Parts: sequence; structure tokens; C-alpha cells
Amino acid sequence: MKLVAGVDIGNSTTEVAIGDVEGELKFLTSSIVKTSGVKGTLDNVAGILTALKDACGNLNKNISDLDTICINEATPVIGDVAMETITETIITESTMIGHNPDTPGGVGVGTGRTIFLDELERIHENDKVICVIPKNVDFETASKKLNEGFERNLEITGAIAQGDDGVIICNRLHKKIPVIDEVSYIDKVPMGMLAAVEVAEVGKTIKTLSNPYGLATLFNLSPEETKHIIPISRALIGNRSAVVIRTPEGDVKERVIPAGKLILFGTSEKKVSIEEGSEGIMKNLGEVWPLNDVSGESGTNVGGMIERVRQIMGELTSQNIEDIKIQDILAVDTFKPQKVQGGLAGEFALENAVALAAMVKTSKLPMENIARKLQESTGIKVVIGGVEANMAVLGALTTPGTDKPLVILDMGGGSTDSAYISKEGKVKSIHHAGAGEMVTMFINSELGLDDYNLSEDIKKYPLAKVESLFNLRYEDGTVCFFQQPLDASLFARNVVVKNDEMIPIPTKDSLEKIRLVRRDAKKKVFVTNAIRALGDTAPNGNLRSIEFVVLVGGSALDFEIPEMVSEELSHYGIVCGSGNIRGIEGPRNAVATGLVLSYYNNLRG
Ligand code: ADP
Ligand code: MG
Repeated sequence: MKLVAGVDIGNSTTEVAIGDVEGELKFLTSSIVKTSGVKGTLDNVAGILTALKDACGNLNKNISDLDTICINEATPVIGDVAMETITETIITESTMIGHNPDTPGGVGVGTGRTIFLDELERIHENDKVICVIPKNVDFETASKKLNEGFERNLEITGAIAQGDDGVIICNRLHKKIPVIDEVSYIDKVPMGMLAAVEVAEVGKTIKTLSNPYGLATLFNLSPEETKHIIPISRALIGNRSAVVIRTPEGDVKERVIPAGKLILFGTSEKKVSIEEGSEGIMKNLGEVWPLNDVSGESGTNVGGMIERVRQIMGELTSQNIEDIKIQDILAVDTFKPQKVQGGLAGEFALENAVALAAMVKTSKLPMENIARKLQESTGIKVVIGGVEANMAVLGALTTPGTDKPLVILDMGGGSTDSAYISKEGKVKSIHHAGAGEMVTMFINSELGLDDYNLSEDIKKYPLAKVESLFNLRYEDGTVCFFQQPLDASLFARNVVVKNDEMIPIPTKDSLEKIRLVRRDAKKKVFVTNAIRALGDTAPNGNLRSIEFVVLVGGSALDFEIPEMVSEELSHYGIVCGSGNIRGIEGPRNAVATGLVLSYYNNLRG
């Protein structure tokens, strides 16, 4: 027996394959661990040793039983992501309340002038009003006064309460009107102004106040005025209740933050403003492709963002900031929930943002140092095998049913790497910024979770709603029953079902919304990158000249990404699917397998 281990050090994971190269090559086992430290640094050795130990353990052997260890000539690419908001909603006059109190009362839309509850006595018939109820008025008094008003035929069309007693007030009323409650800054509600209150039916979201034309109808707005209230309606989307109050100078501004310009250096130099969004940025990128470097206008948000990326990359790879060259970016439009300045109930607006994934090519990763240290720690001969892309192709070709020519898409954590192998065996490879980590970042920020691990779980596992303590309904509609009651804290919550574990998602977003954010994030990153990758590797950039695409890497394990990519590529007549390395590994272990294969092939000459 002559055991050879192939070791693939990735941004996220380190993978090992072990084969016996005596006689016919036989693969015996594999292993996988989290990469320790930044790819290409000496810190990686600790992770490599664990992975080797695991794999050897599977064979009841020790690392000392190995003949040779092959590590990859790792592509010196490291990905990073950053995000910048480009709009900001500011309410200069108090004009909007939109939130999700747990218990709004009543249902429907009401419009009228805002008055204090105490003023009801002085109001005449035919005067449509909306009553403002401060916290120091208890629900009995409030409902009694409103009922007296109804008896006098006053047109009370809605109410705004400071406390959380919307439902109990409503239950005591002789006439059902929408009551929005839990409005903390009620003293800031402008009085005597035309206002509209909307409460949605249970389980639904408001429809009128979140629609600019709905607001235009209620307030009799001109087309010009309608344009101005778009930020309000947008901030109210998805709420269960809301109030909009027209004040004379009532002015919600959607300010476009001067986010600055990106400067792309490629075949020529182009400046593109972040406000142009992802489409503008990617179009300009295409025009100067291939890219040599990117910088940002100094003194602006994007300038700071690019410099941060460069600085982090410089520190991680111990290189001068000036030597760090950004070789690709992926710009994606996204939203970021941010507190509305001047809101009355702590409203959040989904501000427009642009996210950038950047990929840096460092001069060359010091793989020799890793090889030396690994050899010292193990006493086993360590060789640096072939180039990562070529190894990935070799490994991917062990997928049953594949043949040259083909393209592999290695969808990892930091970058999407692709390689084309021609019928004659020539390999052309390319790396693009943006992969699994960017998807996780979108889920984290668009849902306002601020919890990376939870976002990672939302990405990987299906969603479900706990309908009762004995059943839950998955996002695809299937229902699962339990013999033992679930933990009461899970009741009515949206959860991620991670194997046997149920992890509650602490947002008020509906299950459908969470699902949409998750799927959008995956599409925005991986479908875009698949098309970019094929355009750059296909002969003459013609996607139709490609027949087979094999997906490998951690993100190819995803339960929906491979489908999304396949669906898109089917438009070009391409057969696409997840790899199954050596017929058993699924889309994992391609590079490690390729390293052992390459060693064996060289041995045979
Ligand atoms: P690298 O080669 O850069 O080390 P990997 O090929 O290990 O990267 O892929 C890492 C990425 O794969 C991470 O973003 C991780 O979230 C993602 N990933 C791993 N397992 C799964 C899974 N079961 N479903 C979806 N994504 C996954
Ligand atoms: Mg990889």
C-alpha cells in the first residue's frame, strides 16, 4: 500500500482525499474540516492536520502511515463583502406612523381630522375626525367617550392610542373603527390635520396606505404630490397598521446619500456612481473588463468601503495596501432596514443599498511555507500539486456521466471559480467575486437579524411555522405532527428546521417574506455569477457552445441554488447539475480528489 493524501485548502473548508496509488489507483476515504485561519497562511496547518488525522482515522491508520501529501497551488484569491446604504428616509414634519403593534383594534381605513379625545364634545356632525387617546386615559373612559360620540352621530372614523389597549377599546365600541395603538410619541402627532388610519385584517398587511395611489386618493393628491409621498408608502409596506397625517409642510424626504463613485481600472478607466445601482456598476465593469484594480472616490462612503476591503486583505495576507489589487467586484442591489428619522413609533424603512463583493488577487500565496511547516510537523513528504482550477476539473470529471469539453463552477464561500476544459484537455479558468458568504450577508442584513450563524442556518435549512404545540407546517405546505408538545416559546413562531432542532427567527417578517429574501439573495449572487463565469470561459464567450456544466463546492450542496442555476442555463441548452465526485462524494472533494489523481498520473508518466 502506498497512501497519498490530497489536501484542498479553501477559504471556508479544508478537504482531504486519500488514495492508494500502488497498482490501480483506489480511493479509500475523505474528510472535511473548517479552514483554520486565512487561506494561504501558516495558520492553515492546524486545520490540515485535523483533516488528515480524521481521514487516516477512518482507515485505522496514522498520519505517519502516509507516503506523500499533495497540497494545491491555491489560487491567490480571497473574497470579502461590504455594504453601503444609498438612500435615507427622513421625516421632517411628523407625518407618518407605521408599525406592527401586536394588538391593533378593528379593521379598515378611516380618514378625518386629528383631534384629542376630550375635544369630541365640541365637534359637530358631518365633521370627520380621528381621535387621539393619550396613555393617561384608561380604556373604559376612552370607549365610553367614543360611544357617546357615535350616539351624537359624529363621524369618528378611527383612533390613535398611546397605550397597548387597541383591542379592548375596540371591543367596547358600538361601531367598529380601526384603532392603532402603541404609538409611543403620541404628543408629536400634529392636531387638526387630515389623517388616515388603516388596520389590516388578521394575518394580512395594509393595502391602502402602503400604496402611493391609495394615499393619493385619500388625500386628493396631485401627481407631483404623489411622487413626494412614495417614501412614506414604501416605508409602510408590510405593516399591519399605519397612520399617515398630512401636515401643511408635511415633508418626508427620501434623501439620496452622496455615496460616491467607484473608479474601475481595466482596459480603460471608468467612474461610476454608486447611486446608479448594481446595473450601472456591472454594465461599466463589463465595458472595461478584465479588471486590474478598483478604487473609490476618497472622502465618500464607497471610498471608505473599498479602502476597508483593501486594508483587511492587506493585514490578512501581510502585504502592503498598495500591492492589493481588486480583480473583480460583484455589485448587487439590496435593502437595509434602518430607523426612520422623525418617525413616531420607531418605524423602520427599507433603505436602498448596494452591496459589493470584492476579490483580491494577492501576489502569490506562500504555499511553500505551508508545505515546509506541514512536512516538519508530520515528517511526511509534502508536494505542491497542480493549479487549483485544473485539479478541480480533474476531480469533477470523476462524476459519472461527464466528459470533456465541460465547464465546472466551483461555488465556494468567498468566490465562484470556474474552469473550462476543451476536448484536447486545455483548461481556462477564472474567478469571480461573490459566493456563499455574500448570500448569508444579504439574509442577515435584509431581515435585520444581526446574527451570522442564524442567517447561515436560514440559508441552508427549510423554514416552517409552528402552528400548534403539536404540529408545524413547512414552507412547502407539508405538515409534521409531534407526539410530545413542543416548547411553548416556539408557539406561532417562524422557525428554521435544522435536522431535529427548531431555531426561532426573531423577526416580525412573515414566513413568505423570509423565504423571498433567502431565494432572492441566492439568485442575485449565484445566477449572476454563473452567467458571468460561462461568458468568460466559453469559447468566444458563446454560452451556446457549452454542453455540460458541473457544479461543485459547498454552495452546490444548497437545497435550491443548483436548481436556480440549472433553470437559468437551460435557456442556453446547457445540461447542468451538481457533481458527484467519484460517484460518492456529492459536489464536495473535487480539488482534493484531483490532487491525488494528478499525482497518480504523473507517477505512471
Ligand atoms: P471554499 O472552497 O471557499 O472553502 P466551500 O466549497 O467549502 O468553500 O463552500 C463554503 C460555502 O458553502 C459557505 O458559504 C457555506 O455556507 C456553503 N455551504 C456549506 N454547506 C452548505 C449547505 N448544506 N447548503 C448550502 N450552503 C452550504
Ligand atoms: Mg473550494
